[in-house]
Amino acid sequence: MINKSYKKEFKNIKEEIDKAKNILFLTHRAPDGDAIGSVLALNLYLKKQKKNTYIYILGAPRFLNFLPYFEEIKTKSPKHQDFDLIFSLDYAGEERLEKPFHFFLDKRKIISIDHHPEGKIIGKIKLILPFVSSTSEILYYLLDSIKAKIDKNIATCLLAGILTDTGGFSFASQNSERVVGELLKEGAELSKMMERYNSFSLSRARILAKMISRIKRDEDFEMLWSWLSFDDFKREKERSFLQEPPIFPDFLSRIDKAKVYLFMIEYKNGRVKGSLRSRQGVDVSKIAQGLGGGGHKSASGFKTTGTIKEVLEKVKRELKKELK
Ligand code: 5GP
Ligand code: MN
Repeated sequence: MINKSYKKEFKNIKEEIDKAKNILFLTHRAPDGDAIGSVLALNLYLKKQKKNTYIYILGAPRFLNFLPYFEEIKTKSPKHQDFDLIFSLDYAGEERLEKPFHFFLDKRKIISIDHHPEGKIIGKIKLILPFVSSTSEILYYLLDSIKAKIDKNIATCLLAGILTDTGGFSFASQNSERVVGELLKEGAELSKMMERYNSFSLSRARILAKMISRIKRDEDFEMLWSWLSFDDFKREKERSFLQEPPIFPDFLSRIDKAKVYLFMIEYKNGRVKGSLRSRQGVDVSKIAQGLGGGGHKSASGFKTTGTIKEVLEKVKRELKKELK
């Protein structure tokens, strides 16, 4: 069904690929599994088409470093401007796109592929499917539609993206489950991926214990919430925050059956990042949008200023509007 509805867009993208020789990949800041998985999957296809690719990503999560060509991810800006095409994937709005330094980003060369409903998407082709689990799922439809061979490596990258964007398959849709089935048929390395996704260091376990010890239940909103600070990470000499793998909000959202789950992290500069998760049909993307963020119905996030207490009150104000 999706292949049919978007046939023209998929065909246009294929034509652009055929014409191009040098291709740049960009994605969002603080990249997650979907950002990495979708980029590496499309990169594999383009390599097979003998294209020159350059992947510019800062802070790629190391738990995904077994994925093919992970080591080709560059943290240095490209030295030249000579790209025929720029794939910008999964970035949810221009302000979240990680742009290379000293680089003129020619929007006429950009193809954006995303599943985030909000944010300003740029480029000559904008393929946005807000109802799917992940950008990786969209790439499955694209590759399938243009009759590209989805081999074991591509399947593993796409699986990584769907896995991480569905909180470990816990809010996958019927369609994404079907896609997962297809990827497994192609030999996607599920157990290796799960092993990476489910394991973490002792220092992160200690930080998780801290988060668990702070969980509070808000009866009015049927909300479970907790928080961590920059110092909690520093004390454990843990430098990477949220990815590696992204355990904190997802762990919280497994506890009891609350309507809303809120995890906050307090940075040094008075800024707070919030992660919202929901079950039972509450659309937390509305709450996140009210606070300048965004995301999806069951998983969304925002960044704002204030203390943990102040941000908690801000969230409650938004919840009041949404649940009334
Ligand atoms: P997480 O809570 O895991 O960081 O993010 C969950 C979802 O919300 C992701 O799909 C992510 O793209 C989105 N999200 C997280 N933070 C922000 C933000 O600051 N702005 C927007 N627009 N989306 C966000
Ligand atoms: Mn995504």
